[in-house]
Amino acid sequence: MPLGVHTSIAGGLFRSAERAAALGCDCMQIFGRNPRSWIYKPLAPDEAALFKAKRAEAGLMKVAVHTNYLINLCSPDDGIYHKSIDIFEKELAIAEAIGADYLVTHLGSPQDMGSEFAIKRVGLALREASRSGLGKKTMMLLENTSGAGYGFGADLEHIGEIISNSAKDGIEAGLCLDTCHSFTAGYSFSTPGEVAGFLSKIDGTAGLGNLKVIHLNDSKGAFGSNLDRHEHIGKGKIGLEAFRLLLNHPAIREVPMILETPKKTDEDDPMNLATVRRLLAG
Ligand SMILES: [Zn+2]
Ligand SMILES: [Zn+2]
Repeated sequence: MPLGVHTSIAGGLFRSAERAAALGCDCMQIFGRNPRSWIYKPLAPDEAALFKAKRAEAGLMKVAVHTNYLINLCSPDDGIYHKSIDIFEKELAIAEAIGADYLVTHLGSPQDMGSEFAIKRVGLALREASRSGLGKKTMMLLENTSGAGYGFGADLEHIGEIISNSAKDGIEAGLCLDTCHSFTAGYSFSTPGEVAGFLSKIDGTAGLGNLKVIHLNDSKGAFGSNLDRHEHIGKGKIGLEAFRLLLNHPAIREVPMILETPKKTDEDDPMNLATVRRLLAG
């Protein structure tokens, strides 16, 4: 099973592949650009080629790019909505240029406009961003969220609807499942029965075949708390046993798993990778 971490692009995009290789990763996630800024720098002339060369050298099977956190693909404010689509499209273009397999995005918030509005709005945004032929080489993945406030995307039914509506328009979108967000949004997977129920929920909504990336995070927040606070694997409210059950389930053994756990020291990523490898070994 491909296992990796979200890796820093400090010093250049290609540096992320070197960092992933040093950690023994099979896959990784990166930001394409500064994730908290609207200011947008296009790729430098050699940036994509250098990245691809380093990625090949590192032997990374899958690369995901995570979009800017400011993006709101269902904002009722037209200005923010169109600015978000513009940045999303630029992120998709970067992801395709560097040969990334996936572009992972949060869906944003429709404020008090409700889920039906949000489902339509996100669907239109995906169509708009891919109208110039983008999104064929890099698949757009919708990440489930923890459901804080008016945040949209905590309910797998809603994500499933967007994915199937998009498919009817010939647009391929998939699911990125975050374990912390799932847990605090109210999806439990602490017993074999719960894991089976959770996986069948995913299959009945987004579809297991559309589940392309799993973000591995334990949770500082309690079950159903809607808190989005990541913790080291096994040290939060989800706990080691739930991860052991979920990660070893045959239905998802081949899905790339990427750690987004806290990084306070250089020891944190190796520690979490070692924990997950131990869980997968039985
Ligand atoms: Zn995310
Ligand atoms: Zn995540």
